[in-house]
Amino acid sequence: MDVKKPFVVGAGIMGAGIAQLCAQKGYDVTVTDISDEIIDKARGKVIKGLQRRVEKGKISQEDMDSVLSRIYWVTGLELAADSDFVIEAVLENMDLKKEIFQKLDSLCSADTIMASNTTALSVSEIASATSRPEKIIGMHFFNPAVIMKLVEIIRGEQTTDETVEATKEFAEKLGKVPVVTFKEAPAGIVSRVLAGLLNEAAVVYADGIASPEDIDEAMKLGAGLPMGPLALIDMIGLDIHLAKMETLYNKLNDERYKPPDIIKQMVAEGKLGKKSGEGFYKY
Ligand code: NAD
Repeated sequence: MDVKKPFVVGAGIMGAGIAQLCAQKGYDVTVTDISDEIIDKARGKVIKGLQRRVEKGKISQEDMDSVLSRIYWVTGLELAADSDFVIEAVLENMDLKKEIFQKLDSLCSADTIMASNTTALSVSEIASATSRPEKIIGMHFFNPAVIMKLVEIIRGEQTTDETVEATKEFAEKLGKVPVVTFKEAPAGIVSRVLAGLLNEAAVVYADGIASPEDIDEAMKLGAGLPMGPLALIDMIGLDIHLAKMETLYNKLNDERYKPPDIIKQMVAEGKLGKKSGEGFYKY
């Protein structure tokens, strides 16, 4: 399948990044969010990021202008009706995702594939809100979507091979390396494997063993990680990390995934990070 008109729902960290990626790869892409204010902010961030690349000589002003001209910023879901491939990237909340998929299902043509960028929610449960579970799939980009090479493709129980193949092909056209799970898998591969490491780093900090900076430094130099685990939780966002752990804990019914108290406490206090160094280092 040759994707022609991608449509991205949610212009947050991931949605705006995915839209920018589509535009950089030559697609005319529409991206939507709930208010003009959020859209303006998202557009501003994309412009700033591209301007930085122009200043560094990585792209020309012409490239920047042409990328921006291919992103169509809107509010509302109506234009999804023209799309052949929708990527949803709204908050990690099952009720919200189901509501959006139900609306998309009534708007989009029967051939349209609808992917969720969910980190840890069940693709099958999202698909249950639609009349086309065979065309619903997890397409999990990593942050920043423009840069990170991996896309995890997560099947739902009824996702067909045809949908998987089309999603794989689209990911490759976006310059990504797709990996496909054999079956439904909450949190895919990377988030699940990382979960234990990130939680343990938070507990090491909560136990007063070392400063956040030293924990990260130790893990970078001692374990060869490109980024410290606490800086990574910050970048993911404490709230998103917590939601992921709660889903994993509930779905897999395994104590290894129980969210540590410190993470719950930080989220309750509104210390959400969202940028490396903004969460644990300032806590
Ligand atoms: P975010 O909070 O930055 O953005 C979510 C956006 O969704 C917000 O702008 C919000 O206004 C918008 N939204 C809410 N309701 C909407 C609606 N009805 N219609 C349109 N837009 C709506 O969140 P994010 O970090 O971009 O995460 C989005 C999804 O991607 C989540 O499912 C998350 O688990 C997943 N994800 C996040 C990361 C990460 O590192 N942040 C990485 C991979 C996947």
